Amino acid sequence: MTLIDGKKTSSEIKAEIAEEVKNMIASGKKAPHLVAVLVGHDGGSETYVAHKIKSCEEVGFVSTLIRFEDNVSEEELLKTVDKLNNDADVDGFIVQLPLPKHIDEQKIIEAINPNKDVDGFHPVNLGRLVAGLDTFVSATPAGIVDLLKRYNIETAGKHCVIIGRSNIVGRPLSILLSQKGIDCTVTVCHSKSENLKEITKTADILVAAIGRPGFVTGDMVKDGVTVIDVGTTRVKSDQTKSGWKLKGDVNFEEVSPKASFITPVPGGVGPMTICSLLKNTLKAAKK
Ligand code: NAP
Repeated sequence: MTLIDGKKTSSEIKAEIAEEVKNMIASGKKAPHLVAVLVGHDGGSETYVAHKIKSCEEVGFVSTLIRFEDNVSEEELLKTVDKLNNDADVDGFIVQLPLPKHIDEQKIIEAINPNKDVDGFHPVNLGRLVAGLDTFVSATPAGIVDLLKRYNIETAGKHCVIIGRSNIVGRPLSILLSQKGIDCTVTVCHSKSENLKEITKTADILVAAIGRPGFVTGDMVKDGVTVIDVGTTRVKSDQTKSGWKLKGDVNFEEVSPKASFITPVPGGVGPMTICSLLKNTLKAAKK
């Protein structure tokens, strides 16, 4: 079994991005600028945004964090999006999800200029992905494909089963993996799927993007499977200072002995997601 080291791979990619940024600046161009908009004080969101800002610094980007309290109005948030859309100094920006219930997330996503939508959540960018056109691919699916490529995991003709059909992970990943050049045969499963175990047992590559810790058990996979665990759920723990730890959707103890490749949680998909965001920002800056 090979452990897929997302931390190491993301460090390599970050070094490549940093080199490009150095060259851009040396040739008189400005450093790429990413803005993150954070609403409220959700622990997970705070951590993700802090990682994103730190990663920007590591590769030589300029980064700005705009914070709002939980009670910010949808109107004020839309005004900020509009300002960022029209700020020539900003190459790309993200509005960290989830947003408080009184704000319509989809409305915010659709207000973002697709050319600055470095999360790749805007319907225009999702649509371009479906059509096989150049786009900002959403960060987690792009990171997963990078991991498969960098670990030389064969995808052509392989059966990839994805559990989860969200617009940010499962759905775009299914499109990406079935594209020409990657050539997987893809099955997408969800909460209404019947006989899930029979389907997952046929997977050469199994992706779990559900948000249910330990959902995928040893009896759900075949020998030699490649397992990508996207799940990141905070569960209570008395072994950590913070009082919680991150758990993936895969029961690692049961599944890893059967796997040929597997991602850990943390340290698998998570760091790659940030890398893809940096790549998209670099691409936006070049445009
Ligand atoms: P989501 O929007 O809640 O979607 C979850 C998907 O899982 C849905 O399609 C749902 O089916 C499916 N599902 C739920 N219960 C199921 C069951 N019993 N059997 C089969 N399918 C089931 O979640 P998400 O945003 O895609 O995120 C999924 C997980 O990935 C979360 O833990 C999240 O924190 C994590 N995540 C990690 C990263 C990273 O960078 N590492 C990035 C994004 C997300 P229905 O559609 O039928 O409801």
